[in-house]
Amino acid sequence: MDLQYKIIVGLEIHVHLATRTKIFCGCELAYGDTANTHTCPVCLGMPGSLPVMNKKALEYSILTGLALNCKIAPFTKWDRKSYYYPDLPKNYQISQYDLPFSEHGYIEIPLADGTTKKIRITRAHLEEDAGKNTHTLGNFSAIDLNRAGTPLLEIVTEPDMNSAEEVGALARELQRIVRYLGVSEADMQKGHMRFEPNINLHITRDGQIFKTPISEVKNLNSFRAVERSIAYEARRQYQEFVETGKTMQMGNKATYGWDDDNQMTVLQREKEEAHDYRYFPDPDLVPVKVDADWLGEIKSRLCELPSQMQQRFVSEYGLSNYDAGVLTADRATAGFFDKTVKLGATVKRVCNLLTQTGLKLAKEKGVPVDQLNITDEALADLAKMADVGDVSASAATTIFEMMAESGENPKKIAEEKNLIQKSDSGEIETLIDQVIAENPKAVEDAKNNPKKAKKSAGFLMGQVMQKSKGQANPKVVSQILNKKLNA
Ligand code: ZN
Ligand code: MN
Repeated sequence: MDLQYKIIVGLEIHVHLATRTKIFCGCELAYGDTANTHTCPVCLGMPGSLPVMNKKALEYSILTGLALNCKIAPFTKWDRKSYYYPDLPKNYQISQYDLPFSEHGYIEIPLADGTTKKIRITRAHLEEDAGKNTHTLGNFSAIDLNRAGTPLLEIVTEPDMNSAEEVGALARELQRIVRYLGVSEADMQKGHMRFEPNINLHITRDGQIFKTPISEVKNLNSFRAVERSIAYEARRQYQEFVETGKTMQMGNKATYGWDDDNQMTVLQREKEEAHDYRYFPDPDLVPVKVDADWLGEIKSRLCELPSQMQQRFVSEYGLSNYDAGVLTADRATAGFFDKTVKLGATVKRVCNLLTQTGLKLAKEKGVPVDQLNITDEALADLAKMADVGDVSASAATTIFEMMAESGENPKKIAEEKNLIQKSDSGEIETLIDQVIAENPKAVEDAKNNPKKAKKSAGFLMGQVMQKSKGQANPKVVSQILNKKLNA
């Protein structure tokens, strides 16, 4: 018998903030540098060294909290979370316990059908990252503390997601938001974003709802792993319930890892009790007061958020939700598109030029699309030339590529490369009359032979294009030619 069930997922996300230096010392943040070259007494946990808060890290966090519709606390403090681990030299992590800088927000996630869903944010707090254990030295483990002290924004959601797709959508939306805000590079490959879903099922049997034990999957660093681990856990928990009838016990939670090679979760610790981290306020750090002036100053740095921009592109410009999604995937593309369209070029043309040619070129060159050596004015000029038929759509693509090479304006390139289309009807009519005179059989078929009419008209059209060396505007040619054939 198949039982009805609902997947329940809450998410904990850690995001590396893109500050220049670490959160409590002046060491530079460096990814992939020689181990232990970005350390000092503070991040090495030397006795007697004193931490100082990086103001920018808190501002980046507050900015993100505002974008996530959170209430920002006027008073926030730092706590020590005690645990012992080789990559944590102080034996405690500086974090925020009972007074996080923000709480009670929400994020709106885009769903495949074009609608959105509100997911509540429980809290967001700021903490420091630990170092890294590496296991590349044979029988030895090594510690790299370059990462220790990296500012880490922890965001916790309510269990409001009901499918792997929804969790994936939230993860991607959050990535888009922190990148728009410029607070994180959010590069998954560099471990800038890590996800920990809490997953269980509500299964209906005999009119009663049974809740399966919660699994927490630790440290996922790709969207795919997030989605697959949830789908896998749903199947595993369902199977386990059918076989054992096991349900959730208060306070118990099993932790799992994700085995990417075998595409399955692996049990790490079962029936874990709530940890006692011996939280207490860090006596070395002063609490932080966020007054109205400071908060207002941070608020003024908020930009239009990606989902709002996507919705605006649909309502204001009439784009499909899909196209609007492609254009708002990053802020550079969205802004560039917006500016170009406001200069009077048609929406669909600019959208096509950017998504089909611009993004490809940008990817090849490894730069954002607005750094291709092409200004919004130049792109608008090119789009307008294509709009009025001065150049064909395929010539516009070629010109776009040449603009990125030379930085020249589109008109000059089109003239130099002979890409201007002839739309002058007098000139085109002369060509058409010549072709008609030279091909009486085809003209006869096009006019009076229903079986061959279409093919013959196409042939005549081709002859005209050839005579013009491909420079006649095909739209104008076909208009005049049809008129003459139907006369
Ligand atoms: Zn340091
Ligand atoms: Mn954390």
